[in-house]
Amino acid sequence: MRFRRPRGTQDFFGDRMRSWAKVEEMLAALAGRYGYSEIRTPVFEVSELFVRAVGEATDIVSKEMYVFTDKKGRSLTLRPENTAPVMRAFIENGLHRAGGITRFWYQGPMFRYDRPQAGRYRQFHQFGAEAIGHPGPAIDAEIIDLSLAVYRMFGFEGLEVRLNSVGCPVCRPGFLDVLRGALEERRDELCDNCGERADVNPMRIFDCKECGEIKSRLPVITDHLCPECSEHFGGLQSILREMKVDFILDPLLVRGLDYYTKTAYEVLHPGLGGQNALCGGGRYDGLAEECGGGSIPAVGFSAGMERLMENLPEEFTGKTGLDRVDAFFILPDSSAAAAVLSIAGRLRSEGVRISIDLSGRSMKKQMRGASDSGAPLAVIIGPEEIEKKEAAVKLLSSGDQENIPFEELAARILQERKNEID
Ligand code: AMP
Repeated sequence: MRFRRPRGTQDFFGDRMRSWAKVEEMLAALAGRYGYSEIRTPVFEVSELFVRAVGEATDIVSKEMYVFTDKKGRSLTLRPENTAPVMRAFIENGLHRAGGITRFWYQGPMFRYDRPQAGRYRQFHQFGAEAIGHPGPAIDAEIIDLSLAVYRMFGFEGLEVRLNSVGCPVCRPGFLDVLRGALEERRDELCDNCGERADVNPMRIFDCKECGEIKSRLPVITDHLCPECSEHFGGLQSILREMKVDFILDPLLVRGLDYYTKTAYEVLHPGLGGQNALCGGGRYDGLAEECGGGSIPAVGFSAGMERLMENLPEEFTGKTGLDRVDAFFILPDSSAAAAVLSIAGRLRSEGVRISIDLSGRSMKKQMRGASDSGAPLAVIIGPEEIEKKEAAVKLLSSGDQENIPFEELAARILQERKNEID
């Protein structure tokens, strides 16, 4: 083996690729039912976007970004997340001028130099949605509902929604002072990492797996919210209750990205152990301003595709039949290749899906290839058939064979596809 894929990345093909494609299609349709439209942004952006939006003191920016310099010396970064790029695109394309609420969904690869393990990769994929332009809690509820609809659609059960409010620039600084004070008293109990974080980004301590004991004795943000954040948080909870969306209040919940304000939430799969977060999101009312776009409130979520795919009920995995062909063409004599390719080209333009055996192997092996392909029909075209302008068509389920004129071939094959579906 001369080359291997980089650590923490994956190749997708075969049945697995097919189930990904099918799930992506279902997610696009789901987002459409909620009135969200797709947005695609570049896979790399100027590094400064993520440094400012996600936050310099976060793990993502300080340790996990794939940063490179282009030939003109500009610093670019493979996107570690897609909320900042969507906001950048929203502002750059002047979409804020339209007013109202802009709703986008996206799907695609993200890159983080994280320690690979089950459910954690260096190139992973997220499906996400962003609703930009409205400050009220009803839109937070819509986002939470959409993210849960993803898992409902695939029959997931027993999921947990953990909900918190992480405050805003009015109330958070005061809370951070209180928190720093409390941490100062317990400094020698903190792990080395948190010892360093205590001054710069003290809320990250709530995310530390080692400092569990101390966490439970620290002050919590929800006791320090300003009236506006409190009202928003209360409003969201009552909407969710009315919608019968179960949630657990978790004052220790913080997200690994600094742009969150007010609402922060996660959807957990309690059966998954370490990497049990399926999806996370929240409000980011300060991000537009950070990106140079004035004050525009927004809320969104992103769901890890790998964690969705790896825990999908069986009916959505395995054979999907999505790229099975309608007919498998067999060539008794490879000198007929050009003629068969031309005939197949015409049939394909009429919508027929065809795989042609161009290997020149024995008829017996080509026949076996036909059965393995899963196609209902084998179509045999040799010099004799070309002469007579008709093909020998074999129904693989029964072995019955008939001769069909070339001009009727498309109709015959499509008829068989219809028979299969009926
Ligand atoms: P985040 O962008 O950090 O809020 O993460 C949102 C979701 O993306 C998580 O709940 C995971 O499902 C998924 N995710 C984040 N990082 C990774 C990773 N390194 N590998 C696989 N999935 C990830």
